[in-house]
Amino acid sequence: MNNLGNGQKKNPLGAQAIQAPQLTAEMIKNAANITCECGGMVFSEKLLFKKMSALISTSGREEIAPMPIMVCDKCGKVPQVFDPQNVLPSEIKTTKVL
Ligand SMILES: [Zn+2]
Repeated sequence: MNNLGNGQKKNPLGAQAIQAPQLTAEMIKNAANITCECGGMVFSEKLLFKKMSALISTSGREEIAPMPIMVCDKCGKVPQVFDPQNVLPSEIKTTKVL
């Protein structure tokens, strides 16, 4: 019994969920480490909050939006590698946040 056309509803945007890839020992050995300018390789996730004005928020109202950032555990700064688009305030990249 082939029930074609049933349950074919798909999200037009496709799957948006970000999944951590399954890492094998081989992949870990061969992949480069992400390092901070100071040489640190361990990072902590912190939150930065942005106040969205009614003009740019999706709800049409003023909103406070949390934004995860990665802070180096060694120097306490956000390395450039985690801000490729240069959108973070420069003070959190040049001075200790932790
Ligand atoms: Zn660092």
